[in-house]
Amino acid sequence: MQITGLKDWIGEYQKPLIIAGPCSVESKEQLNQTISPLLEKVQVIRGGIWKPRTRPGSFEGMGEKALQWVKELKAEKPFRFATEAATPEHVELALKYGVDILWIGARTTVNPFNVSELASALQGVDIPVLVKNPVHPDLSLWKGALERFSKVGITKLGAVHRGFHAYQQKKYRNPPFWQIPLELKSEFPELPLLCDPSHIGGSRSSIEALSQRSLDLNYDGVMIETHYQPSIALSDADQQVTPQLLLEVISKLTPRDSSFTKKSYLDQLEIIREQIDQADRELLEAIAVRMNLVEKIGEFKKDNNVAIFQISRWKEIFKSRPDWAKQMNLDPEFIVDLLRLLHQQSVKRQTEVFNTVEEKQTNSND
Ligand code: PEP
Ligand code: MN
Repeated sequence: MQITGLKDWIGEYQKPLIIAGPCSVESKEQLNQTISPLLEKVQVIRGGIWKPRTRPGSFEGMGEKALQWVKELKAEKPFRFATEAATPEHVELALKYGVDILWIGARTTVNPFNVSELASALQGVDIPVLVKNPVHPDLSLWKGALERFSKVGITKLGAVHRGFHAYQQKKYRNPPFWQIPLELKSEFPELPLLCDPSHIGGSRSSIEALSQRSLDLNYDGVMIETHYQPSIALSDADQQVTPQLLLEVISKLTPRDSSFTKKSYLDQLEIIREQIDQADRELLEAIAVRMNLVEKIGEFKKDNNVAIFQISRWKEIFKSRPDWAKQMNLDPEFIVDLLRLLHQQSVKRQTEVFNTVEEKQTNSND
Protein backbone atom coordinates (compact mmCIF):
# COMPACT_ATOMS: atom_id res chain seq x y z
CA MET A 1 0.00 0.00 0.00
CA GLN A 2 1.26 3.45 -0.86
CA ILE A 3 0.67 5.70 2.13
CA THR A 4 1.02 9.47 2.48
CA GLY A 5 2.07 10.37 6.05
CA LEU A 6 -0.27 12.38 8.29
CA LYS A 7 1.98 15.43 8.38
CA ASP A 8 1.97 15.58 4.59
CA TRP A 9 -1.74 16.30 4.55
CA ILE A 10 -2.50 17.72 8.00
CA GLY A 11 0.61 19.89 8.15
CA GLU A 12 2.87 20.22 11.19
CA TYR A 13 1.20 19.40 14.49
CA GLN A 14 2.27 18.25 17.92
CA LYS A 15 1.73 14.53 18.29
CA PRO A 16 -0.90 13.19 19.10
CA LEU A 17 -3.31 14.19 16.35
CA ILE A 18 -6.62 15.09 17.95
CA ILE A 19 -9.92 14.55 16.15
CA ALA A 20 -12.88 15.67 18.24
CA GLY A 21 -16.48 16.71 17.83
CA PRO A 22 -19.96 15.38 18.34
CA CYS A 23 -21.09 11.84 17.67
CA SER A 24 -23.81 13.44 15.50
CA VAL A 25 -24.25 16.93 14.18
CA GLU A 26 -27.63 17.79 15.71
CA SER A 27 -28.00 21.51 15.02
CA LYS A 28 -25.86 24.42 13.88
CA GLU A 29 -25.96 25.77 17.43
CA GLN A 30 -24.84 22.44 18.94
CA LEU A 31 -21.96 22.13 16.48
CA ASN A 32 -20.89 25.73 17.02
CA GLN A 33 -21.03 25.53 20.83
CA THR A 34 -19.16 22.23 20.82
CA ILE A 35 -16.33 23.09 18.47
CA SER A 36 -15.67 26.78 19.16
CA PRO A 37 -13.63 26.10 22.33
CA LEU A 38 -11.68 23.36 20.51
CA LEU A 39 -10.41 24.91 17.33
CA GLU A 40 -7.02 25.92 18.69
CA LYS A 41 -6.12 22.51 20.07
CA VAL A 42 -7.90 20.13 17.73
CA GLN A 43 -6.65 19.44 14.22
CA VAL A 44 -9.83 17.87 12.86
CA ILE A 45 -13.50 18.24 13.83
CA ARG A 46 -15.60 15.10 13.57
CA GLY A 47 -19.37 14.87 13.28
CA GLY A 48 -21.79 12.17 12.14
CA ILE A 49 -24.18 13.29 9.41
CA TRP A 50 -25.79 9.89 8.80
CA LYS A 51 -25.86 7.59 11.83
CA PRO A 52 -25.83 3.80 11.59
CA ARG A 53 -28.23 2.77 14.36
CA THR A 54 -28.55 -0.78 15.53
CA ARG A 55 -32.34 -0.62 15.77
CA PRO A 56 -34.83 1.46 13.80
CA GLY A 57 -36.58 4.36 15.44
CA SER A 58 -33.55 6.06 16.98
CA PHE A 59 -31.99 9.27 15.72
CA GLU A 60 -30.42 8.62 12.34
CA GLY A 61 -28.58 11.88 11.75
CA MET A 62 -29.66 15.18 10.20
CA GLY A 63 -28.36 14.38 6.70
CA GLU A 64 -27.75 17.00 4.03
CA LYS A 65 -28.92 20.00 6.08
CA ALA A 66 -26.20 19.27 8.64
CA LEU A 67 -23.64 19.48 5.82
CA GLN A 68 -24.99 22.95 5.08
CA TRP A 69 -24.41 24.00 8.75
CA VAL A 70 -20.87 22.65 8.59
CA LYS A 71 -20.23 24.63 5.41
CA GLU A 72 -21.60 27.82 6.96
CA LEU A 73 -19.53 27.45 10.14
CA LYS A 74 -16.40 26.68 8.13
CA ALA A 75 -16.93 29.94 6.25
CA GLU A 76 -16.92 31.80 9.59
CA LYS A 77 -13.89 30.04 11.13
CA PRO A 78 -12.00 27.52 9.05
CA PHE A 79 -11.61 23.95 10.30
CA ARG A 80 -11.11 20.51 8.81
CA PHE A 81 -14.24 18.41 9.00
CA ALA A 82 -14.48 14.60 8.98
CA THR A 83 -17.59 12.48 8.70
CA GLU A 84 -18.66 8.90 8.11
CA ALA A 85 -19.70 7.84 4.61
CA ALA A 86 -21.51 4.54 4.25
CA THR A 87 -22.98 4.78 0.73
CA PRO A 88 -21.89 6.29 -2.60
CA GLU A 89 -24.66 8.88 -2.09
CA HIS A 90 -23.03 9.95 1.20
CA VAL A 91 -19.70 10.27 -0.64
CA GLU A 92 -21.26 12.42 -3.32
CA LEU A 93 -22.94 14.76 -0.83
CA ALA A 94 -19.87 14.97 1.42
CA LEU A 95 -17.73 15.99 -1.55
CA LYS A 96 -20.36 18.48 -2.73
CA TYR A 97 -20.25 20.26 0.65
CA GLY A 98 -16.47 20.23 0.94
CA VAL A 99 -16.01 17.60 3.69
CA ASP A 100 -12.23 17.26 4.18
CA ILE A 101 -11.88 13.71 5.51
CA LEU A 102 -14.10 10.64 5.28
CA TRP A 103 -14.18 7.75 7.66
CA ILE A 104 -15.58 4.31 7.06
CA GLY A 105 -17.65 3.06 9.99
CA ALA A 106 -17.21 -0.26 11.75
CA ARG A 107 -20.47 -1.61 10.35
CA THR A 108 -19.34 -0.79 6.80
CA THR A 109 -15.81 -2.20 7.06
CA VAL A 110 -17.32 -5.64 7.70
CA ASN A 111 -18.99 -5.69 4.29
CA PRO A 112 -16.71 -6.01 1.25
CA PHE A 113 -19.62 -5.17 -1.11
CA ASN A 114 -20.18 -1.82 0.64
CA VAL A 115 -16.47 -1.11 0.78
CA SER A 116 -16.08 -1.84 -2.96
CA GLU A 117 -18.96 0.51 -3.79
CA LEU A 118 -17.42 3.27 -1.70
CA ALA A 119 -14.00 2.69 -3.21
CA SER A 120 -15.49 2.98 -6.72
CA ALA A 121 -17.22 6.21 -5.71
CA LEU A 122 -13.84 7.56 -4.56
CA GLN A 123 -11.83 6.54 -7.63
CA GLY A 124 -9.71 9.51 -8.66
CA VAL A 125 -10.74 11.63 -5.63
CA ASP A 126 -7.90 12.96 -3.52
CA ILE A 127 -9.45 12.81 -0.06
CA PRO A 128 -8.12 11.22 3.14
CA VAL A 129 -9.99 8.07 4.18
CA LEU A 130 -9.86 6.69 7.72
CA VAL A 131 -11.01 3.10 8.04
CA LYS A 132 -12.45 1.99 11.36
CA ASN A 133 -11.90 -1.60 12.40
CA PRO A 134 -14.73 -4.01 11.53
CA VAL A 135 -17.23 -4.74 14.30
CA HIS A 136 -15.86 -8.21 14.92
CA PRO A 137 -12.22 -9.02 15.57
CA ASP A 138 -11.17 -9.91 12.03
CA LEU A 139 -7.91 -8.31 10.98
CA SER A 140 -8.26 -9.49 7.35
CA LEU A 141 -11.47 -7.53 6.84
CA TRP A 142 -9.80 -4.39 8.17
CA LYS A 143 -6.79 -4.88 5.88
CA GLY A 144 -9.09 -5.77 2.97
CA ALA A 145 -10.99 -2.49 3.29
CA LEU A 146 -7.77 -0.45 3.44
CA GLU A 147 -6.45 -2.31 0.41
CA ARG A 148 -9.65 -1.63 -1.56
CA PHE A 149 -9.22 2.13 -1.02
CA SER A 150 -5.52 1.89 -1.78
CA LYS A 151 -6.30 0.15 -5.08
CA VAL A 152 -8.43 3.05 -6.33
CA GLY A 153 -5.57 5.44 -5.63
CA ILE A 154 -6.32 6.76 -2.11
CA THR A 155 -2.97 7.25 -0.39
CA LYS A 156 -4.03 9.49 2.52
CA LEU A 157 -5.15 6.48 4.49
CA GLY A 158 -5.44 5.84 8.20
CA ALA A 159 -6.84 3.17 10.50
CA VAL A 160 -9.10 3.92 13.46
CA HIS A 161 -9.24 1.42 16.29
CA ARG A 162 -12.73 1.58 17.89
CA GLY A 163 -12.78 -1.82 19.61
CA PHE A 164 -14.60 -5.02 18.75
CA HIS A 165 -17.92 -6.52 19.63
CA ALA A 166 -17.67 -9.31 22.19
CA TYR A 167 -20.71 -11.13 23.49
CA GLN A 168 -21.60 -10.29 27.10
CA GLN A 169 -18.50 -8.21 27.79
CA LYS A 170 -19.19 -5.69 30.50
CA LYS A 171 -16.01 -3.71 31.11
CA TYR A 172 -15.93 -2.03 27.70
CA ARG A 173 -18.62 -1.23 25.17
CA ASN A 174 -16.30 -2.69 22.53
CA PRO A 175 -13.26 -4.43 24.06
CA PRO A 176 -10.01 -3.18 22.53
CA PHE A 177 -8.15 -6.47 21.80
CA TRP A 178 -5.03 -4.31 21.33
CA GLN A 179 -3.11 -7.11 19.66
CA ILE A 180 -5.19 -6.73 16.47
CA PRO A 181 -4.35 -3.07 15.68
CA LEU A 182 -0.76 -3.75 16.73
CA GLU A 183 -0.56 -6.55 14.17
CA LEU A 184 -1.96 -4.19 11.55
CA LYS A 185 0.67 -1.62 12.50
CA SER A 186 3.47 -4.14 12.36
CA GLU A 187 2.42 -5.14 8.85
CA PHE A 188 1.96 -1.54 7.66
CA PRO A 189 4.30 0.58 9.81
CA GLU A 190 3.64 3.69 7.68
CA LEU A 191 -0.13 3.52 8.15
CA PRO A 192 -1.35 6.16 10.64
CA LEU A 193 -3.14 4.48 13.53
CA LEU A 194 -5.69 6.36 15.61
CA CYS A 195 -7.62 5.30 18.68
CA ASP A 196 -11.33 5.96 19.25
CA PRO A 197 -11.59 5.58 23.04
CA SER A 198 -15.21 6.81 22.95
CA HIS A 199 -16.54 3.73 21.16
CA ILE A 200 -14.14 1.34 22.92
CA GLY A 201 -15.00 2.46 26.44
CA GLY A 202 -18.57 3.64 25.93
CA SER A 203 -18.27 5.92 28.95
CA ARG A 204 -16.79 9.34 29.68
CA SER A 205 -14.76 8.02 32.58
CA SER A 206 -12.66 5.68 30.43
CA ILE A 207 -11.61 8.21 27.77
CA GLU A 208 -8.41 9.43 29.42
CA ALA A 209 -6.97 6.03 30.35
CA LEU A 210 -7.74 4.51 26.95
CA SER A 211 -6.27 7.51 25.12
CA GLN A 212 -3.07 7.35 27.17
CA ARG A 213 -2.89 3.61 26.62
CA SER A 214 -3.02 4.12 22.87
CA LEU A 215 -0.24 6.71 23.03
CA ASP A 216 1.84 4.32 25.13
CA LEU A 217 1.46 1.89 22.25
CA ASN A 218 2.69 4.49 19.81
CA TYR A 219 -0.62 5.38 18.15
CA ASP A 220 -0.57 8.58 16.11
CA GLY A 221 -3.69 10.16 17.53
CA VAL A 222 -7.15 9.89 19.01
CA MET A 223 -10.73 10.52 17.93
CA ILE A 224 -12.89 11.61 20.87
CA GLU A 225 -16.61 12.31 20.84
CA THR A 226 -17.35 15.74 22.30
CA HIS A 227 -20.68 17.50 22.93
CA TYR A 228 -21.34 20.81 24.66
CA GLN A 229 -24.16 19.15 26.63
CA PRO A 230 -23.53 15.40 26.58
CA SER A 231 -26.56 14.57 28.71
CA ILE A 232 -28.95 15.75 25.99
CA ALA A 233 -26.98 14.27 23.06
CA LEU A 234 -29.19 12.47 20.54
CA SER A 235 -26.69 9.62 20.18
CA ASP A 236 -23.98 8.12 22.39
CA ALA A 237 -24.79 10.43 25.32
CA ASP A 238 -22.88 8.33 27.89
CA GLN A 239 -19.53 8.52 26.16
CA GLN A 240 -19.35 12.14 24.98
CA VAL A 241 -17.21 14.58 26.92
CA THR A 242 -17.68 18.34 27.23
CA PRO A 243 -15.22 20.55 25.33
CA GLN A 244 -13.78 21.58 28.73
CA LEU A 245 -13.17 17.98 29.76
CA LEU A 246 -11.68 17.20 26.37
CA LEU A 247 -9.18 20.05 26.74
CA GLU A 248 -8.30 18.81 30.21
CA VAL A 249 -7.76 15.26 28.95
CA ILE A 250 -5.61 16.50 26.05
CA SER A 251 -3.45 18.54 28.39
CA LYS A 252 -2.80 15.46 30.54
CA LEU A 253 -1.90 13.08 27.71
CA THR A 254 1.77 12.15 27.50
CA PRO A 255 3.02 11.33 24.02
CA ARG A 256 5.69 8.60 23.89
CA ASP A 257 8.83 8.23 21.84
CA SER A 258 8.32 6.16 18.74
CA SER A 259 11.34 4.06 19.50
CA PHE A 260 11.28 1.08 21.82
CA THR A 261 11.01 2.01 25.48
CA LYS A 262 10.76 -0.08 28.60
CA LYS A 263 7.26 1.28 29.22
CA SER A 264 5.97 0.13 25.82
CA TYR A 265 7.55 -3.28 26.41
CA LEU A 266 5.64 -3.56 29.68
CA ASP A 267 2.43 -2.44 28.04
CA GLN A 268 2.71 -5.12 25.40
CA LEU A 269 3.31 -7.67 28.13
CA GLU A 270 0.16 -6.47 29.83
CA ILE A 271 -1.83 -6.78 26.61
CA ILE A 272 -0.74 -10.37 26.19
CA ARG A 273 -1.60 -11.05 29.83
CA GLU A 274 -5.06 -9.60 29.27
CA GLN A 275 -5.48 -11.94 26.34
CA ILE A 276 -4.36 -14.87 28.49
CA ASP A 277 -6.93 -13.87 31.13
CA GLN A 278 -9.61 -13.84 28.46
CA ALA A 279 -8.48 -17.23 27.08
CA ASP A 280 -8.53 -18.74 30.60
CA ARG A 281 -12.02 -17.42 31.17
CA GLU A 282 -13.18 -19.04 27.93
CA LEU A 283 -11.44 -22.28 28.94
CA LEU A 284 -13.26 -22.32 32.29
CA GLU A 285 -16.55 -21.53 30.58
CA ALA A 286 -16.00 -24.51 28.23
CA ILE A 287 -15.27 -26.77 31.22
CA ALA A 288 -18.44 -25.55 32.93
CA VAL A 289 -20.47 -26.36 29.80
CA ARG A 290 -18.88 -29.85 29.70
CA MET A 291 -19.68 -30.46 33.38
CA ASN A 292 -23.32 -29.51 32.88
CA LEU A 293 -23.54 -32.02 30.04
CA VAL A 294 -21.89 -34.62 32.25
CA GLU A 295 -24.56 -34.06 34.88
CA LYS A 296 -27.28 -34.42 32.28
CA ILE A 297 -25.86 -37.71 31.02
CA GLY A 298 -25.52 -38.91 34.62
CA GLU A 299 -29.23 -38.38 35.13
CA PHE A 300 -30.01 -40.10 31.86
CA LYS A 301 -27.89 -43.12 32.79
CA LYS A 302 -29.48 -43.33 36.20
CA ASP A 303 -33.02 -43.13 34.78
CA ASN A 304 -32.21 -45.91 32.35
CA ASN A 305 -30.27 -47.98 34.85
CA VAL A 306 -27.01 -47.85 32.91
CA ALA A 307 -23.54 -47.93 34.57
CA ILE A 308 -21.62 -44.65 34.86
CA PHE A 309 -18.43 -45.97 33.37
CA GLN A 310 -18.79 -47.06 29.73
CA ILE A 311 -15.57 -48.60 28.49
CA SER A 312 -16.39 -48.14 24.78
CA ARG A 313 -16.98 -44.40 25.26
CA TRP A 314 -13.75 -44.08 27.30
CA LYS A 315 -11.81 -45.74 24.46
CA GLU A 316 -13.41 -43.54 21.85
CA ILE A 317 -12.57 -40.35 23.76
CA PHE A 318 -8.95 -41.34 24.23
CA LYS A 319 -8.64 -42.28 20.59
CA SER A 320 -10.18 -39.19 18.98
CA ARG A 321 -8.92 -36.40 21.27
CA PRO A 322 -5.17 -36.96 20.74
CA ASP A 323 -5.87 -36.73 16.99
CA TRP A 324 -7.76 -33.46 17.49
CA ALA A 325 -4.89 -32.22 19.63
CA LYS A 326 -2.38 -32.91 16.85
CA GLN A 327 -4.53 -30.98 14.38
CA MET A 328 -4.46 -28.02 16.76
CA ASN A 329 -0.72 -28.21 17.23
CA LEU A 330 -1.07 -29.37 20.84
CA ASP A 331 0.98 -32.09 22.49
CA PRO A 332 -1.31 -35.22 22.48
CA GLU A 333 0.27 -36.55 25.70
CA PHE A 334 -0.54 -33.36 27.53
CA ILE A 335 -4.13 -33.51 26.24
CA VAL A 336 -4.47 -37.16 27.38
CA ASP A 337 -3.31 -36.12 30.88
CA LEU A 338 -5.80 -33.26 30.89
CA LEU A 339 -8.62 -35.54 29.72
CA ARG A 340 -7.83 -38.09 32.44
CA LEU A 341 -8.33 -35.34 35.00
CA LEU A 342 -11.53 -34.18 33.35
CA HIS A 343 -12.81 -37.73 33.09
CA GLN A 344 -12.03 -38.40 36.73
CA GLN A 345 -14.02 -35.32 37.68
CA SER A 346 -16.88 -36.36 35.36
CA VAL A 347 -17.15 -39.77 37.02
CA LYS A 348 -17.18 -38.06 40.43
CA ARG A 349 -19.97 -35.69 39.34
CA GLN A 350 -22.05 -38.51 37.85
CA THR A 351 -21.63 -40.55 41.03
CA GLU A 352 -22.97 -37.55 42.96
CA VAL A 353 -25.93 -37.41 40.58
CA PHE A 354 -26.61 -41.13 41.13
CA ASN A 355 -26.43 -40.67 44.90
CA THR A 356 -28.64 -37.59 44.94
CA VAL A 357 -31.35 -39.42 43.02
CA GLU A 358 -31.05 -42.40 45.35
CA GLU A 359 -31.40 -40.18 48.40
CA LYS A 360 -34.52 -38.63 46.91
CA GLN A 361 -35.95 -42.09 46.27
CA THR A 362 -35.08 -43.20 49.83
CA ASN A 363 -36.81 -40.13 51.21
CA SER A 364 -39.92 -40.68 49.16
CA ASN A 365 -40.09 -44.28 50.44
CA ASP A 366 -40.02 -43.11 54.05
C1 PEP B 1 -19.20 6.99 15.23
O1 PEP B 1 -18.01 7.28 15.09
O2 PEP B 1 -20.05 7.77 15.70
C2 PEP B 1 -19.63 5.61 14.90
C3 PEP B 1 -20.87 5.31 14.60
O3 PEP B 1 -18.61 4.76 15.01
P1 PEP B 1 -18.44 3.17 14.74
O4 PEP B 1 -18.55 2.99 13.27
O5 PEP B 1 -17.08 2.96 15.27
O6 PEP B 1 -19.52 2.47 15.53
MN1 MN C 1 -20.88 7.65 18.23
